[in-house]
Amino acid sequence: AHMEDCLFCKIIRGEIPSRKIYEDEDTYAFYDIHPQAKVHALVVSKRHTTDLAHHSELSDRELAACLRACAKVAELLNVAESGYRVVSNRGENACQTVGHLHFHVIGGEKLAERMA
Ligand code: 5GP
Ligand code: ZN
Repeated sequence: AHMEDCLFCKIIRGEIPSRKIYEDEDTYAFYDIHPQAKVHALVVSKRHTTDLAHHSELSDRELAACLRACAKVAELLNVAESGYRVVSNRGENACQTVGHLHFHVIGGEKLAERMA
């Protein structure tokens, strides 16, 4: 999907509603529509790129901003102390469904020991 019809680009532009948690110059964070745990947020890069395999399309600053935003979201949602998991799916084997770089921030309860 290119930027015009990319789901997360539409969410960033406000064309599709979302429940915002945090925003800065490089990132936007909102609640996942199908939470897989008591806390499940998504952090997306404002610059469109498909996934981590395309990391060279983002600056070091933009990439770092994504991780910092994950940590910020964890603080805002009160799971920084209790613990959380950050996941970014890329490609078929990871079951990526949205082709815009995003990081899941998952917590609020004890998670499975293994991720797969
Ligand atoms: P992926 O499977 O690509 O790693 O993650 C995509 C995530 O986006 C899924 O967890 C899915 O629930 C979430 N998602 C898909 N469409 C929407 C939407 O329209 N709004 C929100 N808030 N989340 C969505
Ligand atoms: Zn996009």
